[in-house]
Amino acid sequence: MPSRGPIPRLAVLVAAAGVLVFAVTLQAADRGLVNTSASPHVVLRSVDLDDARWTDGFWAQRFELCRRVMVPNMKRVMELPGNAATLRNFRIAAGLEKGTFSGTNWGDGDCYKWLEAVACVYAVTRDEKLDRTMDELIAVIAKAQEPDGYIATQIQLTDKQRWQDLRHHELYNMGHLMTAACVHHRATGKDSFLRVARKLGDYLYTVFQPRPRKLAYFGFNPSNIMGAAELYRTTGDRRYLELARTFVDMRGSASGGSDQNQARVPLRRETEAVGHAVTAAYLWCGAADVYAETGDKALRGALERLWSDVTGRKMYLTGAIGALHHGESIRHDSVHEAFGRAYELPSRTAYNETCANIANAMWSWRMLQISGEARYADVTERVLYNSMLSGVGIDGTDFFYTNPLRRCGPDVPLLRNDTPARWPDTTKRPAPRCFCCPPNVLRTIAGLHGWAYGVSDRAVWVHLCGGSVLRTELPDGTAVGLEQQTDYPWDGRIRITVKQAPDEPMAVMLRIPGWAEGAAIQVNGQPAGIPAKPGTYASVRRKWSPGDVIELDLPMNARLVEAHPLVEQLRNQVAVMRGPIVYCLESPDLPEGVKVGQVTIPAGAEFSPHHEKDLLGGVTVLRGKARLAEDGNWNGRLYRARGSEAGKTIDVTLVPYYAWANRGPSEMTVWMPVLQP
Ligand SMILES: [Zn+2]
Repeated sequence: MPSRGPIPRLAVLVAAAGVLVFAVTLQAADRGLVNTSASPHVVLRSVDLDDARWTDGFWAQRFELCRRVMVPNMKRVMELPGNAATLRNFRIAAGLEKGTFSGTNWGDGDCYKWLEAVACVYAVTRDEKLDRTMDELIAVIAKAQEPDGYIATQIQLTDKQRWQDLRHHELYNMGHLMTAACVHHRATGKDSFLRVARKLGDYLYTVFQPRPRKLAYFGFNPSNIMGAAELYRTTGDRRYLELARTFVDMRGSASGGSDQNQARVPLRRETEAVGHAVTAAYLWCGAADVYAETGDKALRGALERLWSDVTGRKMYLTGAIGALHHGESIRHDSVHEAFGRAYELPSRTAYNETCANIANAMWSWRMLQISGEARYADVTERVLYNSMLSGVGIDGTDFFYTNPLRRCGPDVPLLRNDTPARWPDTTKRPAPRCFCCPPNVLRTIAGLHGWAYGVSDRAVWVHLCGGSVLRTELPDGTAVGLEQQTDYPWDGRIRITVKQAPDEPMAVMLRIPGWAEGAAIQVNGQPAGIPAKPGTYASVRRKWSPGDVIELDLPMNARLVEAHPLVEQLRNQVAVMRGPIVYCLESPDLPEGVKVGQVTIPAGAEFSPHHEKDLLGGVTVLRGKARLAEDGNWNGRLYRARGSEAGKTIDVTLVPYYAWANRGPSEMTVWMPVLQP
């Protein structure tokens, strides 16, 4: 096992069950969720999966919900006959149970995502029951794997042939296997799942590395790029990195590819975000991983170009991506679940699949590792608090697939995959035939402590706010410990206590969110004399002693937000944000008989925060005055002569967008018409 980078590795031979097994003794900072500890082309290095943990507050509550409710409940659902993702397929493929394949082509991948989440929870809790659960399932998966390394139950248990149709999602499932196996190895130190992943990786190398013509543009949803890159990071075997790069290079390498899965134009030459939003963002995540290991400048250029296109022209206020259920790309390919054209951001018909939103956060987090630039962390945070969390209900048991920004009453029919409420499983309509989003939300929350901090030479970086402790090492091996106390995102005061620090000066890099105009930093009760410019990391550099306290104060005034004038659907409308939270107006908060669409916001309206600990799991609501447009009597007309301006003033309460649809069927809107003075 060659040493890569500054972290020394020890290779040891372990005798297990009479078989010699090659194992790696993992060193500190070698076990990140996405392990950039030895990547040559990153600014930031990951911390280990168990270096950071939430202690209290917003994310601690959600991690606890994961541990207590989401993990066991989702396993129960994946044992339901008829659910779109089912663990039973593995048992049948392993010969342990009789039966036929059921579910979707991508169900295996959804099971692996669940397993990845369990490993993330285990890394923090060391709950032996979870360890046993993982062992049992991994043993079944290992048994289901073919002798040559292939594993995909939708092929093995049916009359479909290998590598015939990219919609069979073989590479998607295999990618999630490789990622989950790496995370399992980092969380447990065990090799059981990693052996399955290596065998699979070795098989994929023989199939794809020769670049056979007939597989030139094979692959739909490319989680396999991230999976292969992570397998390289775990094992040091460069063949897996070559494989990851090949998967990137294949896209757009043959004529006849479509914009739907980013296969018309090679990524390095692409200028526009097109096609399926999940497949796009997974491709870009994988390409960012490949860049981090290879320094391929053309790839990075493309990623920066596409990130600017997405976040500057095609992303919702909630950080969601994928405006279209169905439509046409700029090059006239038929696309679905896809990006719209520039500034095409309808609220009611937005697709915004939860998986796409999460992928956007994952991509921006990877761009942050590469660059150290706070604009990427801003997008990550925007997704996490809004369009990732909207995908799951307050009690952690039901899920949205699409995440529109407006929901009208029952008179306006829903589009395909829209549902009137979140759903617990996919066995009954109106749930969609797809269980991809629930375990994606689960693994994101379960591993989020692994996104919160990073390190670089003589610096520790604070990306996410939340009550937490960090005990890690800088790249030179010196120990560092921080404790973060805050009631963020409800309160803007963040208190960081240094618990352990090197003898030499060290920078604490504090993220100042782009919206935080007027942020201030104090050290040990005195102004730090350091500018806290929004959209940057403020470098608080000094020689630290245990007990030193940094206080970051982020202003948390509610603010009205408007969209670029080219967003036709949002002309003369405003939304309300406070801190990172996007708010919405929902019908349960309106007087009887008043419709969401009647409420107009006076220009310059002010909203005041009120924390309601018993509402929607504990939220800060915003209260203010609005004006009520008369409902009018339209008498079947579509148009009429403009009437008088909005009528009486009413009190309105806004709730966080992520918490909508938890109080029965409702109407909801993020954007509201603004009443000009
Ligand atoms: Zn999904």
